[in-house]
Amino acid sequence: MSEVALDALDAIPRVRLGHVPTPLDAAPALGRELGIDLHIKRDDCTGLAFGGNKVRQLEFYLGAARAENADYILITGAVQSNFVRLAAAAARIQGMDIHIQLEERVPDMHESYRLSGNVLLNRLLGARLSSFPVGEDESAADAGIEAIAKHLAAQGRRPYVIHLGIEHPPLGGLGYVVAARELAVQMTERNVAFDHVVVASGSALTHSGLLVGLRALGNRVPVTGVCVRRGARDQRPRVLKRCREIAALIAKDACVDADDVRVFDGVLAPGYGRLNAETMEAMVMAARLEALMLDPVYTGKTMAGLVALAREGVFGKGARVLFIHTGGLPALFGYERILSQRLGDLGEGTTA
Ligand SMILES: *Cc1c(COP(=O)(O)O)cnc(C)c1O
Repeated sequence: MSEVALDALDAIPRVRLGHVPTPLDAAPALGRELGIDLHIKRDDCTGLAFGGNKVRQLEFYLGAARAENADYILITGAVQSNFVRLAAAAARIQGMDIHIQLEERVPDMHESYRLSGNVLLNRLLGARLSSFPVGEDESAADAGIEAIAKHLAAQGRRPYVIHLGIEHPPLGGLGYVVAARELAVQMTERNVAFDHVVVASGSALTHSGLLVGLRALGNRVPVTGVCVRRGARDQRPRVLKRCREIAALIAKDACVDADDVRVFDGVLAPGYGRLNAETMEAMVMAARLEALMLDPVYTGKTMAGLVALAREGVFGKGARVLFIHTGGLPALFGYERILSQRLGDLGEGTTA
């Protein structure tokens, strides 16, 4: 299946940012615990500035920015957003300036949430930071950043805005079409096939790009997106819309249909960026069985979803399941206070 060409994909402007191919590892101890044959695609190891899935997405946004001869990248996101941190890193190595707008999405957080983790890295990278009071209105956040871009343009700069909103083209999803092709090559080389793929579903670009890429290459493996941002009722149509748009961009229209879109929101509560017991359990299990670090916002929640699906028997006993590790590890330190508290509640992890 890796023989299928994706000529339209390869014609789209792109810069190379990631250390790829990322490893495809077995996770035998965690798999045994869950009664499945678990493997992990290590996209936390994409290299650039602590890595993660946004490195692949940014290859296409920065490609578009360069094609427009931009000299200033603007982006909006949550305070502990990995996307904005990696946009800053990508802008820097392309010789561009970077403005980050941080949205108030997560209530009641300790000071380390505002100072440590990704925020610290943004500051090291020399990003200009501004804050936006609303976190649940993507269009308003995009409008906020547009206003700053307009101001910069009036000063003679050439800004390029990376939008979050669903009305803008899903360029980032193309990075996961590339990842699907990379995965297909690894599967062929090792002569393995998966019965199920599990990935985080936030903006839906990773989930949609991966699904479109696999289908465009003729692979029919079920892909479940674990909801980390909004519930299944809203996420399902979002994924389908993004799939159709991404498929159109690579001239593979109609390779994904509504039945292909699987989302699971059983571990989302109480909401985006909020730690729950299932996520804490998954983070502890992965760390202690595999020395695999997961973050509280995305990969911990997604692994919690995988654990729940395994325990519900959705995969079947011994099924070969692939978990996509999308990164996000600096956020561990932005969540230091609450994670320490929960470890204390477990009666572990403290020294005398
Ligand atoms: C952004 C992000 C996700 C979600 O990816 P989307 O493409 O927005 O759905 C998952 N994991 C990490 C670590 C992220 O930063």
